[in-house]
Amino acid sequence: MAAKIISGTQVAKEIREELKKEVEELKGKHNLVPGLVTILVGENPASVSYVTAKQKTAHELGFYSVQDNQPEDISEETLLALIDKYNKDDSIHGILVQLPLPKHIDETKVIYAIDPDKDVDGFHPVNVGRLMIGAKCFLPCTPHGIQQLLIRSGIETEGAEVVIVGRSNIVGKPIANMLMQKKPGANATVTVCHTRTKDMAFHTKRADILIVAAGAPKAVTADMVKEGVVVIDVGVNRIGKSASGKAILCGDVDFDAVKEKASAITPVPGGVGPMTITMLMLNTVQAAKNTLEG
Ligand code: NAP
Repeated sequence: MAAKIISGTQVAKEIREELKKEVEELKGKHNLVPGLVTILVGENPASVSYVTAKQKTAHELGFYSVQDNQPEDISEETLLALIDKYNKDDSIHGILVQLPLPKHIDETKVIYAIDPDKDVDGFHPVNVGRLMIGAKCFLPCTPHGIQQLLIRSGIETEGAEVVIVGRSNIVGKPIANMLMQKKPGANATVTVCHTRTKDMAFHTKRADILIVAAGAPKAVTADMVKEGVVVIDVGVNRIGKSASGKAILCGDVDFDAVKEKASAITPVPGGVGPMTITMLMLNTVQAAKNTLEG
């Protein structure tokens, strides 16, 4: 039986429609407009396209959105001062600094400089710590998107064997933490694999839900999964260019072969990707709503 294709594009659209209504309500009832600033340093083409997509979505949802472009050679001090300015700006509820940054800037310092209450990427250690203990926080966008995809596709995580390939701070570790929480949409038994895992297939074959965030094309093949597995492929690998010069993308999973064994699978593109930006918008609306609580 061929797998159900989990469309991140569709789920993201549903969430954006909900957010649009929420934004209208915030404007009407509280005269509150969610504000998002995206800070882009330099002109890295991938970063430019990510930031453009984020701004476009923010605009479509009715946010107050600011695109702040800074030159590649901006000093760390000037960038930190800019963040401080937005930390103090009441019209801005969410601050996103597009990563990676040029080598002369310490990313950790930049992440630490963002007010945790405006950290809509969920990368500040205060939010990471809150996530870990199950407290209210901004969940990082990609893991949050993955969890919403599972919930909204009716995939039961409670008691499920979840195997995650990858242990990065932005995907692997936070999704592992989120799915092990004693909460609805979680309560899973979680295993995390990485490059030092001795026998990865031993683990991936046990998975009811397999989440792959390795950044390695076809790291997971059909012989590494069991029948009926749910596969979330986070990977985005550029494997060439089409005749028109557009990047050809593939995930970390051998999609064509694995979909014949899986019960459900996300495609690349059109799976996790559209959810990431949507969760950034959701966090920004949350940040705006938090200001009503005083
Ligand atoms: P990362 O920081 O490079 O981390 C990759 C992780 O995978 C590391 O923990 C690494 O292990 C592990 N790994 C790599 N190759 C492996 C293999 N062959 N077997 C087992 N483990 C392996 O990457 P990331 O930032 O988490 O991103 C992962 C992928 O997701 C990338 O393709 C990225 O573009 C994509 N991504 C997509 C979105 C989206 O919105 N769609 C968002 C974020 C990331 P070690 O720790 O041992 O090195």
